[in-house]
Amino acid sequence: MKYDFFIPIMESTFLEHPEQIETLLKQFYSVSDKGSLLNHLRQINSKVKELRNTGEEIIDISREIDKSARYRVQYVIKASEVGILIVFPFAFLSGFIALFFVTQNIVKRLNELMVTIEKTGEGFYSPLPFPSGKDEVSTLIRTYNHMAEALKDRETQLIKKEEELIRHKKLAAIGTLASGVAHELNNPLNNIHLSAQILAREVKGSSEGIIKETVEDILSQSLRVKKIVGDLLEFAREKKPEKVSINLPELIKGVYNQVEKVYLSEKINFSLISPEEIYVSIDPAQIERVFLNLFTNAVDAMQGEGELVVRIYDDEDVVKIEVSDTGPGIPEDCLDKIFDPFFTTKDKGTGLGLSIVYNIIKNHYGRIEVNSTEKGTTFTIYLPREI
Ligand code: ADP
Repeated sequence: MKYDFFIPIMESTFLEHPEQIETLLKQFYSVSDKGSLLNHLRQINSKVKELRNTGEEIIDISREIDKSARYRVQYVIKASEVGILIVFPFAFLSGFIALFFVTQNIVKRLNELMVTIEKTGEGFYSPLPFPSGKDEVSTLIRTYNHMAEALKDRETQLIKKEEELIRHKKLAAIGTLASGVAHELNNPLNNIHLSAQILAREVKGSSEGIIKETVEDILSQSLRVKKIVGDLLEFAREKKPEKVSINLPELIKGVYNQVEKVYLSEKINFSLISPEEIYVSIDPAQIERVFLNLFTNAVDAMQGEGELVVRIYDDEDVVKIEVSDTGPGIPEDCLDKIFDPFFTTKDKGTGLGLSIVYNIIKNHYGRIEVNSTEKGTTFTIYLPREI
């Protein structure tokens, strides 16, 4: 009990200097060397030593950890520096190169487009290959291609219209010239024909065969020229139709009767497929002329034998008339010329028949179409019922 006061001091000092305390206890307080106090103190001492050693080990390990952490941090910093120094310029360079190529490609395509647009301006339409991409340049090229196609179509139409205009001007000039000549020829021709008729009557009983033949020849030739001059005058006259209400099937039958008389010897079968009555507002003389010309052409084409069929369809506002023959047809390269004045494939033709037909139908606000194969030709006329 008398050491109680010293125990805490000894314990704390003992932890600091255990060997000195042991000596002190033995020398000054005669504590037995083998007593439990010193034994316990020695155990505490060895534990403290162990603790110290463990503490030192921990310090060493933490130093190691610290060292490796520092090393790692430095490594990361170094790597970042390398990244900044190598990767960033590389990325920048490759980005720049990629940008350069993309720009080059865009500039190249835009240049091509510019050259093509310049050519288009000079009238050469050459569309660029159709791009499949969805980028702005591709959209631009596609838009240009559509525009070039539309322009090309327009130019083709313009050329066609220009050609038509030139043809119309030429035809108008020919028409004026022809009608002037026809007017001049009409009176002397009538006199020649009249004189030939008188002469023919005079030599009727004459035995002089050669005189008779010559006079008949003059008569038939003057008749032919009279027809040509008549056609020319009709073609140049462009008279406005004087319309009256007429039963069309009856008018057509009448025309066929006239033609039949001229072509008596021919084996032509005529048929008219139509309702009994179809009243149309037309100029009868002009429409008679239309069917006269169509029938004569059909009979000429069939060379004396065949079928001539007229079909009339009665629609509400329009009357459709088909004139079909079983002739050899019109060659394809002639089809777009047959309505031109003076176009003929016949030795004795004037080439005015169909152009007169065309003008008359046009003046009646109708239209005429032709359809032809090797088995025959069909002319289709559309006439408005009333205007
Ligand atoms: P022309 O009878 O004096 O030759 P047209 O203007 O009446 O003049 O006819 C022009 C040309 O059209 C004819 O020469 C002929 O070649 C062709 N043609 C017209 N009608 C027929 C037809 N029904 N069949 C075949 N060819 C035709």
